[in-house]
Amino acid sequence: MELLEKLCKAGGVSGFEEEVRDILIEEFKKAKCEVSVDKIGNVIAKKGRGKRRIMLAAHMDEVGLLVKHINKEGYVSFVKIGGIDDRVIVNQVVKIRSKYHLKGIVTGVVGMKPPHLQKKKDEKEPLKYEDMFIDIGAKNKKEAEKLVSIGDPITFMPSFEVMNKDMVCGKALDNRLGCYALIKIMQNLPKLDAEVYAVGTTQEEVGLKGARVAAYSINPDYSIAIDITMAGDTPHIKETESNLKLGKGPSITILEASGRGVVTHPEVKEVLVRTATKNNIPYQMDVLEGGMTDAAIIYMSREGIPSGVVSIPMRYTHGPVGVFHRRDLENAIKLVSKTIKSLC
Ligand code: ZN
Repeated sequence: MELLEKLCKAGGVSGFEEEVRDILIEEFKKAKCEVSVDKIGNVIAKKGRGKRRIMLAAHMDEVGLLVKHINKEGYVSFVKIGGIDDRVIVNQVVKIRSKYHLKGIVTGVVGMKPPHLQKKKDEKEPLKYEDMFIDIGAKNKKEAEKLVSIGDPITFMPSFEVMNKDMVCGKALDNRLGCYALIKIMQNLPKLDAEVYAVGTTQEEVGLKGARVAAYSINPDYSIAIDITMAGDTPHIKETESNLKLGKGPSITILEASGRGVVTHPEVKEVLVRTATKNNIPYQMDVLEGGMTDAAIIYMSREGIPSGVVSIPMRYTHGPVGVFHRRDLENAIKLVSKTIKSLC
């Protein structure tokens, strides 16, 4: 779990994935892959030789915030990067990753008016992110500017902890679980008559951008995205909204965003299901009404690339901290590894 903890605690707001990329580069090299970084910032690890090209993709970026303005009292306002519910931002501890300053990472608290000072009508209206600010403990603008700059990326407080047995919580599980899976798959890849590419993609959360570029340059015969998906096993989620449960296996996506995202290629779906069944790997079927993965752009690249998605169910997606089951991650790794063999 040490490697996963390191990945989760690293900062990687969309477009600022350096920390995560560095870990992937190091691990892919240790796994004896040929490693390169393209112009948009994707890290591409390659193993094997052969006619077939198989591309795996997991995005390195996470949702977060970015410094927009510093006022004369030294408070920081921000924009959201990726789809975050405003209600989970307030009163969080955040880390402003200000690499151009000696301080490096600056701690801030997302401030709000305390309940004692609120008016009755304030309670009814949910606070919007535009009305929040980050308190970095600076006494004025001049002092704040010594610590942070406009454009600095901001992550939620790094966290990672085993809760009960195989249940684990942490920051940025979306999609460091996928990054971890890529590393493990490449480490244990047997000799195959194919070229296998594992891509840590950039800027998925803001428009699947890195995957688009990588799919073009690699031009694979098949592709599988590894990501997280929304579990439905917490209070107030109807089983018709999500029936996925933690610990019941990774999910095989049928389609995303009611068909606006990937529509999994029938051959890839068939191979995934057959591989899971043959190897006794538990799995769940996922039909998503909202949300997309890198596969949504890869499958429309070039002349069309047969693609699928294997996801790890998680709770509280796009919040400061999520929960997942360790066995689902292990089984996702197993399923993708075995499927690569079937696709060769
Ligand atoms: Zn994701």
